[in-house]
Order: sequence, then C-alpha cells, then structure tokens
Amino acid sequence: MKHDQIAAGRRTLLRLALGIGAATAVHMVAADPAGTPPRPGGEPPTGAAGPPRSARMSPTGYRLRPMTAHTPPRFRPAAPPVRTRPFEELPDLGHDAMVLSFDDGPDPAYTPSILATLRRYGVRAMFFVCGEMAADNQDLLREMDADGHVVGNHSWSHPLIPALSRRAIRAELGMTSEVIEKTLGAPPLWYRAPYGAWNRNSFEIGAAMGMEPMAWTVDSLDWTSPGTSTIVRRVRQGAAPGVVVLSHDAGGNRSQSVDALRRYLPALIEDGYRLTVPHRS
Ligand SMILES: [Zn+2]
Repeated sequence: MKHDQIAAGRRTLLRLALGIGAATAVHMVAADPAGTPPRPGGEPPTGAAGPPRSARMSPTGYRLRPMTAHTPPRFRPAAPPVRTRPFEELPDLGHDAMVLSFDDGPDPAYTPSILATLRRYGVRAMFFVCGEMAADNQDLLREMDADGHVVGNHSWSHPLIPALSRRAIRAELGMTSEVIEKTLGAPPLWYRAPYGAWNRNSFEIGAAMGMEPMAWTVDSLDWTSPGTSTIVRRVRQGAAPGVVVLSHDAGGNRSQSVDALRRYLPALIEDGYRLTVPHRS
C-alpha cells in the first residue's frame, strides 16, 4: 500500500529526528535586525522532511502523524523532543530583553492602535491570533508581518483545548495555521493555548505542525478592564529580563489595553528594556 510506505517513511524520519534531538533543540535568540548566522545542525535541510501535500497516513500511523485535511502545505517536523510544558519566559533573549504579546485578535477596533504604538517606538511583539479573526482581517495580519512582529497560532475559535478530541485540536490549530500561511506565505512557528490550558495532545499536535508552545510570565489581566493605570502598574512591576507579558487586542473592549501600552512601553524603554521577539533557528 502506498499509504503504508509513506507512513513507514515518516516513522523513519521521526526516528532520525529523535536521534539528533540534542542538535535540533529549539534555539532562540533575539531577532535583531542584523540577523543570525545559520547554525550547523540547527534545523533539517529545507524540504528534507514532511510528507507530500497529499499524503494520507494509515490509521495505525505514528502518534505524531500529521493531519490530513488541515495540514499546512509546508509541513515542518516536530522539534524533538516534544515539550511537556510551554515556554513561560525567554531568558536566552538577553539580560535586557522582554517580550510583549497580544492575544485573540486581530480586531480592527484595537489592533491598528496597538500596531501604531509599537511602530512609533520601533518595537516588535508577538501576536497570537485566532483563525476566525485572522480570516476576516488578513490585512492586519499582513501589517503585523510587515512590521516584523511574530504571528502565532491561538486556535481557531478560542476553545478550552483539554475539552477537545485530538481531531478537534488538529482542526483548531491546523485551520489557523493554514490561514496564517495562506496570508503570510509561511506557517506559524509558535502557538499559545487559549486560557493557557495545555494538555499532552496539544503539545504533540502543535509539535507535529512545527510549532512551539509559548505561555507567558506576566499576566496584565487587561481583559478584566481593571483600569489603564492598573494594567500599566502590573506590567511595570512584572518587568524583568526574559519576561513575556500577556495582553489582548481583541475579545471585548480593549481600549484600556491600547491606552496602557502607550504608557508602559515608553516607560519600559526608559528603564533600559529592549522589547523584542524570539525567533527559531
Ligand atoms: Zn486568548
């Protein structure tokens, strides 16, 4: 059976990948404009892994078999070993680096203001977008990408992941990656579970789609609309090297989030922080 041959080939690839796990561990560096030289052994050669677009795996295939209907066309292998916890901070980015992240968008009511503030200070951030929002706001997705922000996957409809079957998780993550890839030309490399609710299935499925799980260090709790000053205070009090800040640019009235960013961003910069994004190499 052709399908079985493909499955066997895939398993061999996975074994090879697992065998060189140490060499292919995720390596993160600050995405400085100067770029990073390629690391030998840091990543499999382009096109060396991943089944043909039309590949369908047998039902008895390896547990990391890719999805069929929703696999992004440029499938990337898992970065072995599959993580069992998300990244919560990024100390490798440097002694003065912090990461700002915005979830649930893009929303035409708030995302443009957040993008404008980030642009004004020449700062890049991570946006974990929902597929259903991204599909309706592809111009904002392109704007994020053009400004150098990292666009990550935050599921399609913001469900509680542990309540879903593996098949449903694949659909939620896969459809979202597909929208991002169709819009930006490349699939996302990071994902964040809604509510920070991860489970083993999500780690395995995310890895099979080539994504690393990213949580956060400091929750601004901006979604509770606690007042702009409270959001600013939480972010500034939580500031430290390697910290990842969670805010939202959609999912409700986010005017406090927009206003708070205008205040804490220049304050963080003045305190000597470099706001940056990770990138995988
Ligand atoms: Zn969310």
